Amino acid sequence: MIAVTNDFEKLANEILSSYKITEKPFMQISKICKGEDIKIRSANLSEGVDGLFANIDEQKFIFYNSNKPAQRSVFTKAHELGHYFLKHTLDKEILTCSNIGNNSKANVQEWQADQFAVYFLMPKELMYKHYIEVCNSQNRTIGRPLYVDRQQCNYIDWQMTCAHFKFELGVSKEALRYRLEDLGLLRWNLD
Ligand SMILES: [Zn+2]
Repeated sequence: MIAVTNDFEKLANEILSSYKITEKPFMQISKICKGEDIKIRSANLSEGVDGLFANIDEQKFIFYNSNKPAQRSVFTKAHELGHYFLKHTLDKEILTCSNIGNNSKANVQEWQADQFAVYFLMPKELMYKHYIEVCNSQNRTIGRPLYVDRQQCNYIDWQMTCAHFKFELGVSKEALRYRLEDLGLLRWNLD
C-alpha cells in the first residue's frame, strides 16, 4: 500500500503506473477496483449525494448516484478512489460525498479526494499529448494557450477541444477547463 501523502499528483501517477495505465484512465477504474477488492455499484441516491464509499462486513464498496450524468459519475468514482488511496475510509463505515468537484476547500478530505480525481483522470502527460493533437487538428500554434471568448471561431475551437477530451479522458467541460487553466494551456474570457 502506498503511503499517505499531500502530493496528490504524485499519488495519482503512482496508482496509474502501478496498474500500467497509459491511456484513458477513466476506462480503467473498474480494473483498479478489482485489484483493490472494491465493488462498484450504481444506486438511487438522494439528489444532493454524488457518491459514497462504504465498508460493510469487511467488503469495500463505491456507490455512485445513478441519477447523475455519466461524466459526473466518472469523476465521482475517481473521487471515491481518492478517499480510499488517501486512507480517509479506514475508520469509517460509510463516507458520504456531496458537491464533488466544486473545488471548495471547506471540507479538507473532500477537497483532497477531488484533487486526486483531477490528477488521476487528467494526468499531465496525457493532457499535453491530447492538447497537441487538438492544436494540430485545429491548425493552431502549439505553445500558445487556447483563448475562449465570444468570438465564434474561438468558441468552436473550445467545443471541439471539449469533445476530444471527453472522448479521450471522459471528463466534463468544467473539469477540463480547470485542468487546462492550471497547466497554462487555456485562457478563459467568457464570464
Ligand atoms: Zn468525498
